[in-house]
Amino acid sequence: MKILVINCGSSSLKYQLFNMKTKSLLAKGLVERIGRKGSYCHYHPQGKLEIEEERRVSNHRGAIRVMIDFLTSSEHGVIKNVKEIKAIGHRVVHGGEKFTNSIIIDRTVKRSIKEYAKLAPLHNQHNLEGILACESLFPRIPQAAVFDTAFHQTMPAYAYLYGLPMELYKKDGVRRYGFHGTSHKFISLRLAELLKRPLTGLKIISCHLGNGCSIAAIKDGRSIDTSMGLTPLEGLIMGTRCGDIDPGVIFYLMEKERLGLKKINRLLNEKSGLLGLSAISNDMRDIYKAATEGNEQAELALKIFVYRIKKYIGSYAAAMGGLNVLAFTAGIGENQEHIRESICKDMDFLGIKIDKGKNEERLPRERIISSSDSKVLVLVIPTKEELRIAQETYELIKS
Ligand code: ADP
Repeated sequence: MKILVINCGSSSLKYQLFNMKTKSLLAKGLVERIGRKGSYCHYHPQGKLEIEEERRVSNHRGAIRVMIDFLTSSEHGVIKNVKEIKAIGHRVVHGGEKFTNSIIIDRTVKRSIKEYAKLAPLHNQHNLEGILACESLFPRIPQAAVFDTAFHQTMPAYAYLYGLPMELYKKDGVRRYGFHGTSHKFISLRLAELLKRPLTGLKIISCHLGNGCSIAAIKDGRSIDTSMGLTPLEGLIMGTRCGDIDPGVIFYLMEKERLGLKKINRLLNEKSGLLGLSAISNDMRDIYKAATEGNEQAELALKIFVYRIKKYIGSYAAAMGGLNVLAFTAGIGENQEHIRESICKDMDFLGIKIDKGKNEERLPRERIISSSDSKVLVLVIPTKEELRIAQETYELIKS
């Protein structure tokens, strides 16, 4: 059975097609700059060379047509007819409190996704556009919504409520929701497979360190706390997002720098984090290179990034009453051994000890990097959010 996974952003469409029998990827692709002059269309059939073409794509519907062209092309295609696709799984960023699991999309689900767009205006609206376009281009194929927030819906109220008037939670839904849920869930399920044991009794900290970064405390397989909040701005230092700050900073800057709502929003979401601190780049590779060449500001940006993660690990170990497994994933977590080393440095008081040699192994594969006498198992697990979305979709249509 073949399942297509769609991730629609404001001006991009990412897709992956899976064969569920073998859990293998058949092809993946990306359409960038949708709605602008000259969109870049990438298509990568598994085991073959990637194709890149510039085309005019004015909306998400057009991007999906391009994807269908590639997937069914006589030269590079991996399917003969779209009818081979048995279901479509959509990444949806915000599912509010309503969606604790993935769900087959119907009219009510679409209405809720639209409603939650008020909490994730940059995402849900585009996720919905992708759903509507797929409905018209793939009529009668079941579609599922897989929410970034769903996995974290197990958090207790004392972890998800802010110290604000309760009324604002009740009336406006202001609370921690958490994101990257599909990735954190994938990591915990994969850990159970790798360790050949149930998740019950395990205290896991999952560090998703990419452009966006978040960390989750997972006890007995359930998320009990996570660093992102009402929006994906809270928590760790990220590529361009500031993470935790004193909310007072906002009022101070609005007054002192005369910044309006839009400018403050851009400052915190797009100009802060590693980019703002280093004044070099939002890409960890550039910052690390500059730091090794003696750039002190880059070196400090790295220290701030690492320090915040260390503090979260300590607080989540306290929240869970211990720690058995620490997992690293996403671009930085999977590929940057120096960051993992700095995070785990001087953490043996918590039972975390990494093996330098294993940590420095530069292979993008699942592996244990803790030393044999480490009480906490430390692992690198490449995240496969799209595969998880495909699996959730598959499970839904099977049932
Ligand atoms: P996104 O959150 O947009 O999916 P990624 O998970 O790709 O982003 O993470 C981007 C970050 O990961 C960047 O800071 C980059 O430096 C780092 N990164 C990604 N791939 C590699 C790699 N192969 N080697 C080293 N660093 C990488």
